Amino acid sequence: MTDRGETANARIQQFLAEADPRLTGVLFIDLAAIAANYRLLSGTCAPAKCAGVIKANAYGLGVVRVASTLAGVGCDTFFVATLREAESLKEAVGDAVIYVLDGLLPGTGPVFTSNEFRPVLNSLADVREWDEHCRSAGAQGKAAIQLDTGMTRLGLSPAELAELAGQPELLATFETVLVMSHVACADEPNHPKNAQQLARFREMRQLLSPRPASFANSAGVFLGRSYHFDLARPGIALYGGRAVMGEPNPMATVVHLYGRIVQVRQTTEPVTVGYGATHSLDPPRRLATVAAGYADGYPRHASASSTDPGATVRLAGHAVPVIGRISMDLIVLDVSDLPEDVAQRGGWVELLGAKVTVDDLADRAGTIGYEILTRLGRRYHRIYLD
Ligand SMILES: *Cc1c(COP(=O)(O)O)cnc(C)c1O
Repeated sequence: MTDRGETANARIQQFLAEADPRLTGVLFIDLAAIAANYRLLSGTCAPAKCAGVIKANAYGLGVVRVASTLAGVGCDTFFVATLREAESLKEAVGDAVIYVLDGLLPGTGPVFTSNEFRPVLNSLADVREWDEHCRSAGAQGKAAIQLDTGMTRLGLSPAELAELAGQPELLATFETVLVMSHVACADEPNHPKNAQQLARFREMRQLLSPRPASFANSAGVFLGRSYHFDLARPGIALYGGRAVMGEPNPMATVVHLYGRIVQVRQTTEPVTVGYGATHSLDPPRRLATVAAGYADGYPRHASASSTDPGATVRLAGHAVPVIGRISMDLIVLDVSDLPEDVAQRGGWVELLGAKVTVDDLADRAGTIGYEILTRLGRRYHRIYLD
């Protein structure tokens, strides 16, 4: 663990030791780790600039605290998904550049210009509406244009781009400050689609007059210089998540989640544990019931059964398995292999942290760290470490 990680851990243990007895789940968000992750990413992108993607309430971690932290270490450009998110962000970082990835929904032009938000124009229809809006409002609006290089989600298709290139007057009323695209398979560095999309992006850009370009998400940052262009757009790596599959994750741990043990029991006869009676245990076993469940975003798909292991948590330096199905508010752990005094009624269990990561839990649940983060529950008491 780094010095910073040790300091964070000491503060977490101290908080838990003195915690309000009513608390059952505590989510620690290490803002210093987010700052360190931004520095690592922006150092890797340099001389390209590095923005911060803070859509979905900064991947569930709290847009205001995260954005202020990033602004504090030099991040001056942010991407959110929706206009409402842009409005929440503006209060935190007044003078930053804010792009809205979902772009220009019909009728939203005035909200963009009055707040100086920049739409990501994702189709020829978006371009036309922005042009008309800027013309009628007499506003010199700034916007990004997204090109679809193979993801088939948002962005102008090659045919739309050709049509746009034939009508340069559509681009005359506003300033195109960024041309961007998004990579579908950057988390798999050897996927042939990466180089195909890169080649298509270079080709498509040529049809527009030269503009700053943006292509890389977190994983793209690690694909090398040719993917960086002028502005990188990392999200998940800022929050400590794994960007690239099959490689050690270089990012600092941001999320530390603890749940309270509400009951410890000793079994003296064969039992089944939890709903559906899917998990049978022979005695003697010591079981601890912890106050966290799928209502808190602890994924039910990480349930265990007699035949399939499920999620793992940590207790006093030991890995401890979840037993049976994950309930709405509770999980059951098998603590038989731990020294007897370690699992105590009222004690704390580490559900997420440096050794049981968001991605470990995601792998067990058949999903991705992004989904675990963005579903972290509202019932947890949140503590920001800075
Ligand atoms: C979400 C998103 C990103 C950030 O992706 P990560 O994989 O989280 O780094 C970048 N660009 C666009 C267009 C996105 O939608």
